[in-house]
Amino acid sequence: MTGVHLTAPSVASTAPPTSRMAEPATGGRFGDHGGRFVPESLVAACAEVERTFREAWSDATFRQRLDRLRTVYAGRPTALTPAPNLSAELGLTVLLKREDLTHTGSHKINNVLGQALLAHRMGRTRLLAETGAGQHGVAAATAAALLGLDATVFMGERDMERQELNVFRMTMLGAQVIPVRSGSRTLKDACNEVLRHWVATVDDAYYCAGSVMGPHPYPWMVREFQRVIGEEARAQCAAELPAAVPTHVVACVGGGSNAAGTFAGFVDTDAQLVGVEAAGGAAMTDGAVGVVHGYRSRVLQDADGQVAEAHSIAPGLDYPGVGPEHAHLGDIRRARYVTVTDDEVVAALRRLARTEGILCALESAHAIAWVLRAAGTAELPSGSTVLITVSGRGDKDMPALMAAGR
Ligand SMILES: *Cc1c(COP(=O)(O)O)cnc(C)c1O
Repeated sequence: MTGVHLTAPSVASTAPPTSRMAEPATGGRFGDHGGRFVPESLVAACAEVERTFREAWSDATFRQRLDRLRTVYAGRPTALTPAPNLSAELGLTVLLKREDLTHTGSHKINNVLGQALLAHRMGRTRLLAETGAGQHGVAAATAAALLGLDATVFMGERDMERQELNVFRMTMLGAQVIPVRSGSRTLKDACNEVLRHWVATVDDAYYCAGSVMGPHPYPWMVREFQRVIGEEARAQCAAELPAAVPTHVVACVGGGSNAAGTFAGFVDTDAQLVGVEAAGGAAMTDGAVGVVHGYRSRVLQDADGQVAEAHSIAPGLDYPGVGPEHAHLGDIRRARYVTVTDDEVVAALRRLARTEGILCALESAHAIAWVLRAAGTAELPSGSTVLITVSGRGDKDMPALMAAGR
């Protein structure tokens, strides 16, 4: 569970195209990635989550409850907003999928509502979650409050110092925040600690993963809960675009949940799928295959094969791993993964704000930044139609930008 075990480099997958973003293969495999690398005591717990999710996902009553919460609580469907000014400047047609308009201001609500309903169905009374900057912690605390569950959030001590406001938010929502003092006292250590704690509390606690990471069934299940982004966008694009489908679909990638949910709506089309990572946290570009936090994927590692820390101006992209399905989509070349720098990101945030009046999250600005750089090149020729997922709103990032004199 701690550390990374190096494995042989991945070989090209033989998975048939029909398996793209459908169910993973036996054991939760996406090609060579995924799986369930957990201690004996968590194998049964993960199997129970998988079994319950399978039942729930084919149960019309569960789906109706989730749909209703999405509508009356989270504010779905979110808008698809054309960006006319940016489009004219870039020679593209840019459409924005507005996850920033949801309750709590990001796509994370889609995932936590699904998982909290599942915990409820399993008769669990406590949600366990890890958090880095606190965004998933706040979302989990929100869903727990709504459904009458307790929430215990594990957060690195250093992150708690850096993100005081989100610690306070979680407390206001009734969650307990547990400081993690091991390792570098950041997100990767919190991920280890929450799984360790779950071992001891499986009877009354449910582990609520924050992205398409963790042991099977989490990467698959979280993608299914985020699929709503891509499915809504697909229908909205059909109404907005003469060709019905955009030529490019772009989303930022931390763990990869907003990108996975977005891509799921377009994987069966000709659209090019582009995931944008932070240059300082690019597991797809700079990572090596390894096992971390219960799954095999690409992971940032140091020379000794230990999990390295990611560094990004966007707190939500500071994760050293990446969802196993992204590693697979990269292997089979169905999606491509690129990086942008912190400076490009700040410039992109400002550009979107000034052209369209939308202050997006620093994470989301990664997707914008790649489009700004690639527009008019062979990667993104003039006349392209581009769907960009705006994963969250930027209010949370204003204090840091202000303090940094950006
Ligand atoms: C957490 C977060 C991300 C990164 O998470 P993914 O799982 O990669 O989607 C991106 N954007 C926002 C606004 C976030 O809060």
